[in-house]
Order: sequence, then structure tokens, then C-alpha cells
Amino acid sequence: MRLFIFIAFMVAIFILGPCEWISRKCEYIIFVVETKILRRRSKKPISVNYHLTRRCNYACGFCFHTAKTSNTLSLEDAMIGLAILKDAGMRKLNFAGGEPFLEKELLGELMKFCKEALKLESVSVVTNGSLVTDAFLKKYGQYLDIMAVSCDSFNDRTNALIGRGTGKHLVHVRRAAALCQKYGIKFKLNTVVNKYNWNENMNQYIQELKPFRWKCFQCLQLASENGGGDESLRDVSEYLITDSQFKEFCDRHKHNKCFLPENNLAMINSYLILDESMCFLDKDAKVKSQSILDVSVQEALKEVRWDTDQFLARDAIYDWQRNAKAHKQGCGDDKQAKNLE
Ligand code: SF4
Repeated sequence: MRLFIFIAFMVAIFILGPCEWISRKCEYIIFVVETKILRRRSKKPISVNYHLTRRCNYACGFCFHTAKTSNTLSLEDAMIGLAILKDAGMRKLNFAGGEPFLEKELLGELMKFCKEALKLESVSVVTNGSLVTDAFLKKYGQYLDIMAVSCDSFNDRTNALIGRGTGKHLVHVRRAAALCQKYGIKFKLNTVVNKYNWNENMNQYIQELKPFRWKCFQCLQLASENGGGDESLRDVSEYLITDSQFKEFCDRHKHNKCFLPENNLAMINSYLILDESMCFLDKDAKVKSQSILDVSVQEALKEVRWDTDQFLARDAIYDWQRNAKAHKQGCGDDKQAKNLE
């Protein structure tokens, strides 16, 4: 595959000539070639979201992954599971929760293991940002490619209304962005577009924070997590928005080059979700697989729906490794980035 990609790369240089935008064209060609090859192959867990804990120090009203258990695996078991996934074809691992920084020691040691022992291409973490510290990143930041911080509003009253903190969330977001810059980690922003923020204009703040990707999810209802029934801990109904409200939000922000919208359709079954016991989850169908610590990855994958076409369609494979130029990508310019230093 690499030879094929290399040939495609050289052909692109020959055809397009040496100019500024050639690297973008080549990246696109490589992406198309990789995508075509991936479609032909059997299902491989290329990019996995490992929700190592369901516990969280926040209480967002629409939470998609609620504190139904307080379990976490031991470091040894988690390492075994991650090694199994690597063997099955995993290239990127995203640590998620709950709030993964509630398990700081476990998180840090697993990040180190993924990079040093498994040599994964990319390790990322999704966090609400409130527990991220300089000391943690000083010790483990070298093993992290991407940090995604959740922020739904640039008005802290709105964040508090949602349950995203108690009124000081923006301090945490800005601190996390600055720490990412300090330690060469790509900074990403995640926003859940819901009834309380769909009307907001966030353009100025996006240019200030300069995320390299800004994921904007249409608030999603999942019966097993936030459906409001007996089996769920949340009722998302007061947060849901219509498709046209989501489109209005997207139209207001789509000129930001880091902007990546995901409507409900794009989200469902396009993520490979591994829960705190290392079972794959099909949240839409309310089923989970056996743990990959007990059965093979392929066997476990057969027990849930994971749509590889939707996975590829939502731009799930991208430049996901840390690099010195991380702050030069995405939104904003260097002058605005200096405001964070
Ligand atoms: S920060 Fe994330 S995990 Fe925690 S309550 Fe909010 S959405 Fe759920």
C-alpha cells in the first residue's frame, strides 16, 4: 500500500508542479487511495474510542456516556486489551469517558504504553479540560498527539445551564489550549450543538483558540444513555434541536477551515466505541459485544454494528500525529495564538 501511495504522490508532483497548494493536493490523493484500499479490506479497528471510565466531575444534561458503572480495568488488563487491538489493526486510540483525567495515573501510563510499546500512530484524549494540569503534561504530554476539549458555549452562564461545569469552564478551556501549545499537542475543540447554544456566534472565539479541528455534533438522543426512560440516567429531550437549527448553526460557522459538523446520521454507528470493560457498544441498538479480553476482536466486532463507510465519510482518517507545526494548522493566525501564551 505504501508503494502505491508513494507512486500516487510522485505522479501528483509531476502533474501539479511545485507550488504552494501541492501538499494539500497530495494529502487528498493519499487519503483517496487509502480510503479505496480500506473499503476493500475486512473490518479493522483502525480508530478506537476507549471510554476507560464512565465517571465524570461534570453533569451535562445531554451526556451520551453516563456514569452507569464506576468500573475501570487494571493497568495490566487495559494494556493487554490495547495490545490485542493493535494486533487487530488499530492505528489510533482515543481515550474518552466520562472524564478520563479522573483516572490520571491509568491514563498517563496507558498513553505511554500506546506510544512506546505499541508504537501507535496517534493517541488522543477527549476531556472537559477541568483536570488537565501542567504537571501531567510535563510527564506524559510527549505521548499525546491530540487533546480534544469539550466546550459548548463562550458564555459561561450557558455552559453552567447545560451542566458543563459550574460557571468557570472557559478558564479550563483556555488553560488546556495554552498547555497544548506549550507541549506541542494538537488542540481540538468539541461542541455539542443544542437548544441553548445553536443561536450563538462563536467565530471570534474559534479564531482566538485556533483548534486544528472543531467538531460540532448535533445533540443526539440515545435511548440507553439519555433517552429519559428507566434504563437511562439523563433525559436529553429539552436539549434537542431540529435539523434546520443545526444547519443554521453550521451556516454561521462553516467558513472556519477547522469546522467539522456531524449531524445525528453521521454520528450513529460511525464510531467504534469500547466501554470500560473493553466491550464494543452499539448504542443505537442498545447492545454490547463480549469483551475483547474474552473473545477475538473480529468476533466481538460481529456483535455490534460499525459502519465503515460512514466512518470514512466523516473524515475519520486525517493528519493525526503531533508535530511542531500543530499551531499553524486549523483556525486562526499566529498573532491570535500569541494571546494564549
Ligand atoms: S463532560 Fe462529557 S462525560 Fe462528563 S457529563 Fe459532560 S458530556 Fe458527559
